[in-house]
Parts: sequence; C-alpha cells; structure tokens
Amino acid sequence: MDLSILNNISYGMYIITTKKEHKNVGCFINSAMQITSKSKILAISLNKDNYTNEVLKETRKCAISILNEKANQKLISKFGYFSSREINKFDEVNYQNISELPVVIEDCCGYIIGEVIRAIDVETHDIFLIRMEQMEKLSDDAPMTYRYYHEVLKGKSPKKAPTYQEEKEEGKANRYQCSICGYIYDDSKEKIKFEDLPDSWTCPMCGVGKDKFIKL
Ligand code: FE
Repeated sequence: MDLSILNNISYGMYIITTKKEHKNVGCFINSAMQITSKSKILAISLNKDNYTNEVLKETRKCAISILNEKANQKLISKFGYFSSREINKFDEVNYQNISELPVVIEDCCGYIIGEVIRAIDVETHDIFLIRMEQMEKLSDDAPMTYRYYHEVLKGKSPKKAPTYQEEKEEGKANRYQCSICGYIYDDSKEKIKFEDLPDSWTCPMCGVGKDKFIKL
C-alpha cells in the first residue's frame, strides 16, 4: 500500500476548545467536515489519548477556531504538541469567552460553536458529531490547509493526529528528531551539523532544546 496517496486528501487546521469548571482546554485537529447542511452537523476526529477528548465527552460543548495562513508557530506548537493536562495553553494567547467557551481568536479567520450530539468509537480515535449553534467570520484571511502547513511551513503531523505516518529513512546523513513535535533535523539539508549547533539552539517548530532530540 502506498500511504503517500493519503497526503492528497484535504485537511484544515483547527483549534478545538472546551471548558471544564474553570479550566480551559483545547488542542489542534486537522479533520473537520460539514456532514449536513439543513441541520448543520459537523464531524471532527480526536485521538482518545487527547485530554480534550476526555473533557469534551463530559462538557459536550466546544468551539472550533479556523486557523489562517499567517498563524504563528508558537500557537501551532502549543496547541499541537503539548497537553492541556500539563500546561495552560491559553496563557499569552488571544481568546475570548463566548457562550462560556474559550474561543481562540488569534490568527483565526472564524469560529464555530456547537454541542456534541454523538461520539462514535473508531479504534484509536473518536468521531464527534457536533450540532453547530453559533458561528462568526473574523477576517477574510485564507484558512490554513494541512498541505500549506506541511509544504510551506514544513510542519509534521504529531503522533496523535489521524494523518500521522512514520518517517522513512532517507540517505546516510545523520538525522535527529524532536521527541516533542516530530521535527526532523537532517544534516544533509542543513549548513551546520546538528552536533555543531550551539546549546542555545531550539527546535524551530516547538521551541524545546537540543536535549529533546533523538538521533534516528
Ligand atoms: Fe519540536
């Protein structure tokens, strides 16, 4: 099976958020699709290991913010590669409390608020069917597609994403992978070898230090 064909399926970049008591939680999703028009049902896919999945099953209410192409890397790495169990992702992020949900506004062209009407168990993931109740366009900026994220921003799928694929070995040069976000530093494609990078160097995707990289 040539799994690369799956890269031709279109996806977007969205931040799903919800609120448990006073705690704001959220994470990135790349799969969201409108299922019906008249009754306005949206389907999203979330890994079962995600804290947001666990919380959403309780709260049943969420906001989905649609990222634009100008989205900053800090926002992407915070919501994509860390867990709301460990950090408050909303620190220093522009969001608004709308309908008692923390809606991310920063670098987003719009948002949708809705209620979970059903969760469908699909092995490693759950599909949540969401009845859309409120939505607002925030700007005319182009929404970021997953292809743009990969090809222009050189982003990688985190392990929990439904589209994650294991990296294939290429060439004989040393390659190092960030254990947090999956970014690969390939000596053959860089001017400086990984070992010669200063200790102050940080992952261009998620900002962690060299010590979090593993030699492949
Ligand atoms: Fe990283």
